Amino acid sequence: MKHEGHLSDMRSNAVCNATLHKHGIWRSLQGYVRDSAFDPRRWVAPGQISLRPFPCNCGIETAFVPTNGRYISDDPSFVVGKPCDRAHRWMCSKAISDCVEALVGAYYVGGGIVAALWVMKWFGIEIKCDRTLVQEVKLNASYICYLPKISVIEELEAKLKYNFSVKGLLLEAITHPSLQELGVDYCYQRLEFLGDSVLDLLITRYLYVTHTDVDPGELTDLRSALVSNENFAEVVLRNNIHSHLQHGSGILLEQITEYVRSNLECQGKVNKFLQHATCKAPKVLGDIMESIAGAIFVDADFNVDVVWKIVEPLLSPMITPDNLALPPYRELLELCSHLGYFINSKCSSKGEELSIEMSVQLRDELLIAQGQDRNKKSAKAKAAARILADLKEKRPFNETMFF
Ligand SMILES: [Zn+2]
Repeated sequence: MKHEGHLSDMRSNAVCNATLHKHGIWRSLQGYVRDSAFDPRRWVAPGQISLRPFPCNCGIETAFVPTNGRYISDDPSFVVGKPCDRAHRWMCSKAISDCVEALVGAYYVGGGIVAALWVMKWFGIEIKCDRTLVQEVKLNASYICYLPKISVIEELEAKLKYNFSVKGLLLEAITHPSLQELGVDYCYQRLEFLGDSVLDLLITRYLYVTHTDVDPGELTDLRSALVSNENFAEVVLRNNIHSHLQHGSGILLEQITEYVRSNLECQGKVNKFLQHATCKAPKVLGDIMESIAGAIFVDADFNVDVVWKIVEPLLSPMITPDNLALPPYRELLELCSHLGYFINSKCSSKGEELSIEMSVQLRDELLIAQGQDRNKKSAKAKAAARILADLKEKRPFNETMFF
């Protein structure tokens, strides 16, 4: 059985840009990608001389750019998207991996998981989905003895509004690795690995269909906020799932108690964002949200729709673009007042775009960041988010919380 860390590495490798680029090239995707607009000034009829020549210095004898490694270049003299007079075109490799992702997404939206798997296979992305293996996993989980824990399982099932056909899966999902010292030979890490991706997929799909007017950058921000450990930990707390965690660590218990206390204190107050900066949620709380989603996924024979039916009510109310735009500045404001730093911001405009330059004077350093947007609030939020990231890097809060 493979460990969760190993599985994560395998997944990262399978979906990294370099791998996807290779799959795209294998299907000659580069020939179809339109990465620049048609430019009539550069177009010439055969036999005519271009009015705006762009001499070839590509150093290639053939009329097309071969795809082998010799022609992969970071040389900025090759203008991406603009052909030379011999019609050589250079393209960003990321454009190709992005297109592979977009095509898989299009097939998923159009025809569900079956269509997505089909197009992935066409790209040469090997996905072996053997149904008998799923049954084997369920069978193995059913050997986990849950009888002494039956009341814990039943209470949790009632909260989740889902009855497991294999109760061992739920027990595995709420069992912390610290119990391994006491001889328990299973823990939630593998289910967490699985559930992490399932939730990512479901939340991405939800955002894609519900926010058709939001730009991709903001969708990514929303997804990051929704699939974050902080958000999952809050969901676990809100639904009182954390009390069912099976673990054998005193430190862990202290951390959870402290987090629950500080969360209670901050309830309904504006400084919720400060709390996030100063009292980070213990990683275990976010983890069990993922592992429980993973357990339902296995129990439901890999049916994502069943998982969403159970998980959506738990996740609600969801973060929306409206309550996402302001937080970075508010968090920065409160963090700075807490730490005794002063924020300075200047606003300038270029055409329709506003630019905010924000700075925070630390004791020995000046942090400066900029944010641009048509909307002042958004520009401010962007600048604040950048400063916040800098500030947190300089002053990591409670890093010992993660182990
Ligand atoms: Zn050329």
